[in-house]
Amino acid sequence: MIIMNIVIFWKKGNAMTKPAVLITGASTGIGATYADRFARRGHDLVLVARDAARMEALATGLRAQTGVSIDILPADLTRADEIAAVEARLRDDDRISILLNNAGAGLNGSFVDQPTDAITQLIALNTTSVTRLASAVAPRLAARGDGAIINIGSVVGLAPELGMSVYGATKAFVLFLSQGLALELGPKGVYVQAVLPAATRTELWGRAGADEANLPPMMDVNDLVDAALVGFDKREGVTIPPLHDGRLWDAFDGARKAMLPGFGTTQPASRYVA
Ligand code: NAP
Repeated sequence: MIIMNIVIFWKKGNAMTKPAVLITGASTGIGATYADRFARRGHDLVLVARDAARMEALATGLRAQTGVSIDILPADLTRADEIAAVEARLRDDDRISILLNNAGAGLNGSFVDQPTDAITQLIALNTTSVTRLASAVAPRLAARGDGAIINIGSVVGLAPELGMSVYGATKAFVLFLSQGLALELGPKGVYVQAVLPAATRTELWGRAGADEANLPPMMDVNDLVDAALVGFDKREGVTIPPLHDGRLWDAFDGARKAMLPGFGTTQPASRYVA
């Protein structure tokens, strides 16, 4: 018991030197797995999701095992009054230097079958909340010259062929936002990472109403998060754990950059001259 207390005291002492991490969507899945990993690295945590009981259960176990301090901040990030409390925490709490924008959802069905209100909710969670929380924390991190923002996108944001148009569009937004913020905030000392998982075994698919019989092969959530953290430690801008040939991303991004000079021309391209 004494040894256990010494270990926890030592880890606690260590944790004080590490920034706290605010994790959205921390009640289960990818967010809960990140919470486990950051706690084991000695970071204090602020956990955000709607289900306070699940976060409390996770926090109780992690506090006992790691000795870090964990706050629970229940919030529905699609509600203006509830996300405001999370934004205030990010603006005001100097101990938080890492924001993990992970909360997100899918939506089953084709575009013509998806209710407009459900689409609006999806956009509010997957894009608006991500942007609002980044906006709340970025000025403080930039002024201080350190910290990190991790945004969880998806390979679906690169693949309209997969037939998840609105979900993919929200994830394309997350990728673009991350790349833009990396360019803006990187020179000020703030690291921004976009993580693009492919199908990963979590509750997301059931929550979205996906048909159990037609699920794709899934990556284990532990493998996904451990790989994403390798990218984080390398300070990679875009981390795609399922992409084995990383040169493909470099070629894709290179092709995009090769177009940039053309965007500055004032004359229409010859193929558009009537
Ligand atoms: P998950 O298991 O369904 O977990 C989603 C998390 O988000 C839960 O903690 C949930 O908690 C929270 N959440 C949902 N709606 C919320 C709301 N309105 N306000 C606050 N929190 C909310 O999903 P996951 O697979 O871990 O997904 C995490 C991220 O990874 C998402 O951005 C997702 O798009 C992305 N992703 C997942 C996959 C995959 O195959 N699983 C692939 C690519 C990308 P509460 O219900 O307690 O609020």
